[in-house]
Amino acid sequence: MDRSDLVKESFVKKEVPASIPAGKTSDYYGELVFDRKKMCKYLDVESLHALLDCIEGGKPLDRKTADGVARGMKEWAIEHGVTHVTHWFQPLTEGTAEKHDSLIDYDGKGGVIETFDGKMLAQQEPDASSFPSGGIRATFEARGYTAWDPTSPVFILDDTLCIPTVFVSYTGEALDYKTPLKKALKAVSDAAVPICQYFDPSVTKVYSYLGWEQEYFLVDEGLYSARTDLMITGRTLFGHNSSKNQQLDDHYFAAIPPRVAAFMRELEITGHRLGIPIKTRHNEVAPNQFELAPIYGETNLANDQNQLVMNLMNRIARKHGFVVLLHEKPFDGVNGSGKHNNWSLGTDTGTQLLAPGKDAKGNLQFVTFFVNVLAAVQKHNGLLKASIASATNAHRLGANEAPPAIVSAFLGHTMTDVLHKLLEVPSDTPIEIAGKKGKSVGLVEIPEIFVDNTDRNRTSPFAFTGNRFEFRAVGSCANCAGAMTTLNAAVAEQLISFKAAVDAEIAKGKKTNVAGNGYTEEWKQEAIRRGLDVETNVPKMFCEFTKPAAVEMFTKTGVYTQKELEARNEVKWETYVKKVQIESRVMVRMAINHIIPAAIAYKTALMKELTLANELFGNLDSCRTEVRVLERINKYVEEVGVKAQEMKEARKAANAIEGEYERALAYHEIAESLYALRKPIDKLEEVVDNKLWPLPKYRELLFIS
Ligand code: ADP
Ligand code: MG
Repeated sequence: MDRSDLVKESFVKKEVPASIPAGKTSDYYGELVFDRKKMCKYLDVESLHALLDCIEGGKPLDRKTADGVARGMKEWAIEHGVTHVTHWFQPLTEGTAEKHDSLIDYDGKGGVIETFDGKMLAQQEPDASSFPSGGIRATFEARGYTAWDPTSPVFILDDTLCIPTVFVSYTGEALDYKTPLKKALKAVSDAAVPICQYFDPSVTKVYSYLGWEQEYFLVDEGLYSARTDLMITGRTLFGHNSSKNQQLDDHYFAAIPPRVAAFMRELEITGHRLGIPIKTRHNEVAPNQFELAPIYGETNLANDQNQLVMNLMNRIARKHGFVVLLHEKPFDGVNGSGKHNNWSLGTDTGTQLLAPGKDAKGNLQFVTFFVNVLAAVQKHNGLLKASIASATNAHRLGANEAPPAIVSAFLGHTMTDVLHKLLEVPSDTPIEIAGKKGKSVGLVEIPEIFVDNTDRNRTSPFAFTGNRFEFRAVGSCANCAGAMTTLNAAVAEQLISFKAAVDAEIAKGKKTNVAGNGYTEEWKQEAIRRGLDVETNVPKMFCEFTKPAAVEMFTKTGVYTQKELEARNEVKWETYVKKVQIESRVMVRMAINHIIPAAIAYKTALMKELTLANELFGNLDSCRTEVRVLERINKYVEEVGVKAQEMKEARKAANAIEGEYERALAYHEIAESLYALRKPIDKLEEVVDNKLWPLPKYRELLFIS
């Protein structure tokens, strides 16, 4: 089929109705997860209590209990037609990893039976050598272990029981996203609890919450299949702007096309059955761009659910004749896709620590956490930016959608006033009295003010939005754990310092007000200085992770060892190099195999016509337009040829460089030069006969009817 047939076909494709289960959403919600309801039904009392102690109290599970839990899970799973089991983990690649084993084993009597025990539940040994490890596997054994994470419920996908696990090396280094995330969540809880206890001694645990908003594009699968660049790199490496794209602002929140709505419905139902609280769906700013957001939840679970949703999107889209693009910048000239990470902290007593309180005491606690978060973000702004940096997100960084500066004008007058007033509180005010007396720091009115005054400034990458911070620079295809590990660890470090400073004041016999200590002043000074990191070179950004401040922060909070940080940077540089290398290869090959031949075909047709005209009239007076077009084609084809050759040579030179970092720097230059090769190609698209152009154009890819 040629391009015009594919376009026609995409236009007449009708929606595939979603398969809708009987009953209300709440009837089937969570039916495919081994949640508390299932635990109560399928586990013996002893296993149930041990498992709950493990999930809620962080107590270890012994082998006998694991056997008991596995027994119950097996019964439940088989009732749902499960035949296979897998550990489901998040290596340092994009997406999740799984290796399915069937449940059967010999029964010793010549037949087979279904088996699933505590050992299979708790641990597996995938070969770590095929996953990125940044050199950790080279110096130690190649073996890696996956170990069950009981805090994220087991779920069923098709015929397979999926067990969320961490993935670590033989010597205990993390080889995944989940391990450091869980460490950071523990660190922030350990650091926050003693501070919460100044206000409420009954607090024993602090939860980190994450509400992600997943943006994505949909394209028709037929058209997608004709774009090698989309298929291989996830984005269009060229394509002239459509005459109309998002300039009329007519896509954002517009009516959802029926074919897309059917896809969304199916995705939601599947997600709901898997206990993912999917809540919001809407059209985004760019044509063919959409968003899905669930109700926020505990960060580790919410992140697992995001990974699962990205996976489900890919599968379900195909059923509806679409391909999902999770790349941060699939199309030039229209908005890219991000994944806002709404983040907050809350206590096990039900207090939201980043929401204004009901009274002065509650507000003091709120401001204490608020200010400490700002201090952490200020101190580690470069690192936070590095935590969201990638070869693909680089196309958004620095653009209007996600500016690189971390702290921007999101405080507004209200919060600035509040902080000023706080600093005026006499420092000999006892902590308890500060709350009880409702010290006149003007905090009591915050709830009303904030309701009307949350940040709607979409250009701020880290914004306070009333009861949470919204980290907006995270990329659409990223694992949120990258950003969430860094943010929670940075806040943990800051809370530890804060607590130490407050306790030192108390030890000196100085009565102090929690929020009126020197740290606030220190933060204020820092905030005024605003010496923010403005680096835009992605490989350089990663260096933030091994700078002394970051190493100190991560080791102090127990989140990463220095070795892990170094290994991860190796992985990041290597991934960066490979991504750009693939893009550059695809681009050069397409330029040579698709673009130049199309241009030459048109050129040949024009030259034939000119020869004919010359034969007939003895001059080219009747063919001035053709001559002009021909000249343009010659110019652009020449440019494409030269630039493609230069790029090939640059790649060759870069490949010869030793050292991941140095090679990544060289590839950064190549990444920049992709734009230069793109330009003459997009110009050719403008002049070459539409019938001869081999690739679906933006106007065809971007408008689902
Ligand atoms: P908007 O696009 O207007 O920012 P959305 O409704 O698309 O808002 O997404 C907001 C996200 O923030 C949702 O996932 C929501 O559950 C989440 N959220 C709300 N309150 C909190 C909170 N306290 N902590 C973390 N996430 C939150
Ligand atoms: Mg939203």
